[in-house]
Amino acid sequence: MDFKVVKFGGSSLANAEMIKKAEAIVRSDPRRKYVVVSAPGKRFSGDTKVTDLLYACYEAAAEGREFEPILAEIRSRYDEIVEGLGAKLDLDAEFQTIRAHLRSKPQRDYMASRGEYLSARVIACYLGFEFVDAADFICFNSDGTFDWEITNRAVFAALRRVKRAVVPGFYGADEWGTVHTFSRGGSDITGSILARALSAAVYENWTDVSGMLMADPRVVADPRTIALITYKELRELAYMGATVMHEDAVFPVRKCGIPINIRNTNRPEDPGTMIVPAVEEEKDQGEITGIAGRSGFSTITIEKAMMNSEIGFGRRVLSVLEEHGISYEYMPSGVDTMSIVVSTIDLDPCRNQVMNEICHTVQPDVIYFEDNMAMIAVVGRGMVRRKGIAARALTAVAEAGINIRMIDQGSSELNIIIGVEEKERENAIRAIYAEFAK
Ligand code: ASP
Repeated sequence: MDFKVVKFGGSSLANAEMIKKAEAIVRSDPRRKYVVVSAPGKRFSGDTKVTDLLYACYEAAAEGREFEPILAEIRSRYDEIVEGLGAKLDLDAEFQTIRAHLRSKPQRDYMASRGEYLSARVIACYLGFEFVDAADFICFNSDGTFDWEITNRAVFAALRRVKRAVVPGFYGADEWGTVHTFSRGGSDITGSILARALSAAVYENWTDVSGMLMADPRVVADPRTIALITYKELRELAYMGATVMHEDAVFPVRKCGIPINIRNTNRPEDPGTMIVPAVEEEKDQGEITGIAGRSGFSTITIEKAMMNSEIGFGRRVLSVLEEHGISYEYMPSGVDTMSIVVSTIDLDPCRNQVMNEICHTVQPDVIYFEDNMAMIAVVGRGMVRRKGIAARALTAVAEAGINIRMIDQGSSELNIIIGVEEKERENAIRAIYAEFAK
């Protein structure tokens, strides 16, 4: 169907001025029928998000401390918005309900959800769209887990006949009416759920950046924006720390191939980043889509003569890790050597036991651990068709004088993982970026 679900994040709705920008965006395209909103975010650096004020207010009430000053601060954020928009809305009754809740048995998730709830009330009134409460169709189980199937049907039933709606993000309710929230940043998930249940043409996610960048701007000066990225590539980069939206928000739309468009509320003319299921080969010119790197890895290296002919060697080593609840990240190996890359935080509490148990189970000739490793992912769907990409990435790192400690290329040829010492992580990213962004 040719309509869009659009979600505006907290920075896009932080004050009346930003909401007016969001309004212009919604009105400029009649396909923007369903609007999912976050709670007002920071108006300036050092400001506090409304959600954080709500958590603080809950904490005060739950501990029997004075909560009125914080509630007054929250109220003033909304009053400022309502006034700035010239909206005809009185929030007295809403705040009375919240106050009564705080005085009885305050619930953390309920309080946090009021940020999105009030935001949606105000914006629905301002736009003249219908307000539809997420508590009516985003369905949680009473243990706080989310129920996909029931929600999918409930969203369809609740919204299919509504022409234009504003829906609060971040929360839903269980069958007893108790409110539950997703984890922080969860309004992204609400938008994705709606897009999937209603079969939207696109899920637009409006934020304060013009899309995903090819590399971390704290590492590379002024990196290029990624115009087009597949879900799989996004997942690879997100795993290495490059995120533009809540990770769980990708799955609902990915399931039915709905593209996500990341856009900038302050620069609506920018096309942003399109996240799509696949890209047709002929249209695909790119080599590398993005580069991301993460620190905090350790390598366990095991050497044993004739390791390759010892059936079950790898399994026995991995079962030691499994028993300690450690998941491994990569496992490059040679004929008689095997290296396992794990997260240092996972390894630390049981380092000695792991060492002893591996020695006991497989009797290696040598075993050693190396800490302070960083993994850099060079991600690009184009690698599979083009020759020499890996060579260029590795040469760039080597020419920057960085010692490459590990290389791992996934069998789908979507990424190359380059292991370097933690202190070289940023230099290596810069070197690879410079090679491919020329
Ligand atoms: N307001 C919530 C938060 O700050 C959810 C969201 O904005 O997506 O985490």
